[in-house]
Amino acid sequence: MTTHADDDGLTFSHFEAFRLINFTFIKACETIATPGLNPRHQAEKLMQYHGDLLAAYGPGVPLSFGEFRERLRGPIEDLLPPWLDRSDFGNLSFPVVDAEGCVTADAFDLQWEVSQLHRILKRLKRTSGMQFTEAQLQDEIDQDQMYEILKGRGDTQYVKDRSTLVECPAGTAAELNERSLPLNAIAYYEAIPYHATYLTWWFPCTVCKWPMKVSKRMSAGREYYRVACLYARHAEIGASFMFRPTSGDAPQLHADSPDTPAPREAALALGAVGAVPEARPVEGHLALKRGVWRYTCVPGLHELRLHSVLRERLAANHADVDAAVQLWPMSDAYDHRIEIQGTDGRTYLFTVDVKDYTHGRVLAQSLHRNEGDKGGAEWLVIPDHRADQISLLTVTCDKYRMKVATMTDFAQMVCRKAGVEWA
Ligand SMILES: [Zn+2]
Repeated sequence: MTTHADDDGLTFSHFEAFRLINFTFIKACETIATPGLNPRHQAEKLMQYHGDLLAAYGPGVPLSFGEFRERLRGPIEDLLPPWLDRSDFGNLSFPVVDAEGCVTADAFDLQWEVSQLHRILKRLKRTSGMQFTEAQLQDEIDQDQMYEILKGRGDTQYVKDRSTLVECPAGTAAELNERSLPLNAIAYYEAIPYHATYLTWWFPCTVCKWPMKVSKRMSAGREYYRVACLYARHAEIGASFMFRPTSGDAPQLHADSPDTPAPREAALALGAVGAVPEARPVEGHLALKRGVWRYTCVPGLHELRLHSVLRERLAANHADVDAAVQLWPMSDAYDHRIEIQGTDGRTYLFTVDVKDYTHGRVLAQSLHRNEGDKGGAEWLVIPDHRADQISLLTVTCDKYRMKVATMTDFAQMVCRKAGVEWA
């Protein structure tokens, strides 16, 4: 293994401390925001998180319990100790919880993305400095175990089951049973989250179908509600609605005005412009855990779309399109394997990993520590709406002979090589 000049104990402990602080912060915020938690229980939990935080700070960094509680309403950067180097994390000035006490999308993604990086570092160091409790690791364990459960039924079934999970992030127990997911996978569904309910109702995102977040607003002295997907891009392209309060009936949603994609990006753009979801009863419905939704369903929709668009377009000049365009091949070593006949008579092979990270710097660090893609993919493809990460990721990918492209640029390049028109 190559050693990196900057891969010293200090760097490791920075990521480790950051991960622990971020996790503790999120859990403490959730504790404050949980409705119906009794005050004594809440105080006990907060004291425990305060202790965890002081342990991560190390000696000489004071933080009283009162200060700790106050800072929980602010951005994560206010809770970092002075010795911690922030340069690898990018912007940390966003709040961790919003006005409704729901963990923000930026904070949720940062926690997961830093956890992935931390795992890589830990594998490289083969040491364990700070001790993480089982609860602290639960989100990542969930995700890993779920893939193992799905893999247990063979490669073909794996693609089927994973697609089902992506396409079906919420439903009634009967609906989920009909999709014949493995029983253990159904355990990753839970009650509709509190942040997504209005009275006894919830609303599926028009892009991903996961329950949208509901928040109360005021305008000109009148109360109204906004309903929007927690994944910001879905809200921008149409999954954002308003409604007036009702006296118990299902509310009628009205659409905000959405962004429309550029014509060139339309083929791979997700979303159903103009669709308005109907309210569904909370009772009897289940939704995937937030981490599984965010890191399986959200990128999975892009992966499925890229797969189906390439299949469709390459079918005309590839007799065996099943072999040419493969999704999650070889027990999911990477996301796509595309082998095409070029117009020049040569065969071209593309191995692709799709990465949908909110924090591009953390993704760059993860690639750097893995010395490229862990599964050996040669292409890193990111959703079109993350095009601003390209220049940063190109610098890292160049070092490990990987290439990086947005989804549309990549698909267009593959089609052009195969002699297929894109637009
Ligand atoms: Zn959504």
